Amino acid sequence: MYDLIIIGGGPAGLTAGMYAARSKLNVVMLEKMMPGGNVSITAEVENYPGTMTLSGPDLVINMENQARSFGLEIKSEEVISIDVGAGIDGHTVKSDSGEYKTKAVLIASGSSPRRIGCPGEDEHIGRGVSYCATCDGAFFRDKHVAVIGGGDSAVEEGLYLTKFASRVTIIHRRDKLRATKIIQEKAMKNPKIDFIWDSVVESIEGTPVVNNIKLKNVKTGAISDFAVNGVFVFVGYMPGTTFVPSMVEKDEGGYIITDKEMRTSVPGIFAAGDITNKKQRQIVTACGDAATAVKSVEHYLEWYFE
Ligand code: NAP
Repeated sequence: MYDLIIIGGGPAGLTAGMYAARSKLNVVMLEKMMPGGNVSITAEVENYPGTMTLSGPDLVINMENQARSFGLEIKSEEVISIDVGAGIDGHTVKSDSGEYKTKAVLIASGSSPRRIGCPGEDEHIGRGVSYCATCDGAFFRDKHVAVIGGGDSAVEEGLYLTKFASRVTIIHRRDKLRATKIIQEKAMKNPKIDFIWDSVVESIEGTPVVNNIKLKNVKTGAISDFAVNGVFVFVGYMPGTTFVPSMVEKDEGGYIITDKEMRTSVPGIFAAGDITNKKQRQIVTACGDAATAVKSVEHYLEWYFE
């Protein structure tokens, strides 16, 4: 039986893996894709202490290497379910490749990009619609792209896209950005970036690739055509909790509710990072959650199993 299974390999999972491996727990991480989570598709990170500016992929590769250097085992498997056991029986984690008994589980499965949900969006994924500027930005060299959203992701990734695109239009549903002030200021000063305010995307059009979006002004109701070659969508994220048992309490948005020690409503199940219900979703807060969670796991193991 494992002491701890960590589900998810973003910054929270990798930090937890490093702490758990350093504490000599019998631990394994299950990650359905490459470790790194959403940070691995983030162009630049400038607010993680001690690194100055580093690309997202470089930062998470460092985290992975650091965790592995203490002996963390990472398996490439997708978790399907968690069967909640009673007390010292531990819990059972079922993946697409196996079944594992564990004394404790840390859910750090993060979140995935939310879609706009308008006609034409799904059909144009890979044909002009993207959720990842680092993956797809280079395909839009000297092209005009729209960025949808007004948060940190939209504005930061919009700035990154100016390296390739001739013009980046940020389209936001209100007349004020949600993004951090310093990022807003950079975008406002960038000659390649312009803004369309109070507008939402009604549909995405073009055969076979995107060449137009229909916009609706939410104040006047006016519908207009806007010619673009690409649409980058950054309208927030949704928690990845399909495998999480219903006994684990969640908020109305589906995020897992924890206490300050990162304990969920089920003994032996902990959660950390973007999957939890909290206001700040930063790399640094995910890492902080994870360190706290592993210390809680250690207390739990001592109290229950020793
Ligand atoms: P977010 O903060 O939730 O922002 C989503 C944006 O999309 C908001 O501006 C929202 O508008 C807009 N939106 C939501 N649904 C929409 C829809 N259906 N149509 C059009 N617009 C829609 O998401 P995020 O920017 O991805 O950031 C997620 C979290 O990660 C945040 O906590 C953020 O601070 C953090 N983050 C931090 C950094 C950093 O520290 N460097 C970088 C990236 C992300 P409203 O403003 O009107 O709600």
